[in-house]
Amino acid sequence: MEESATTHRATRICRSSQKNYHFKCCFPSCNIDDPQFLIGSHIARWVDNPDMRGQTSNGLCLCVLHDKAFENGYFSLDNDLRVVISKKPEIQNSTVFSEYIKLFFTRA
Ligand SMILES: [Zn+2]
Repeated sequence: MEESATTHRATRICRSSQKNYHFKCCFPSCNIDDPQFLIGSHIARWVDNPDMRGQTSNGLCLCVLHDKAFENGYFSLDNDLRVVISKKPEIQNSTVFSEYIKLFFTRA
């Protein structure tokens, strides 16, 4: 499989403001906006980056599924906050990947 097919960079993921409670999942093309299904994540962990503590620009709002996928390495973010999909075969071949990660990119 060629590199461009496996490393898919899409629209920049948005930064969320913790002051704004009208959250929506930041994952490209995901429209989940029910607060019960949204989690405020941090791009850089405060433990590793104490200078970023309290900075809202470090915030990221994801739905439970994309939050879990991010946490488990299904995708990561580059320095420009673009989504970089994992190239690991076990992830690429998983149902979660085909239903909730890859699908959103083909929809975008
Ligand atoms: Zn989502």
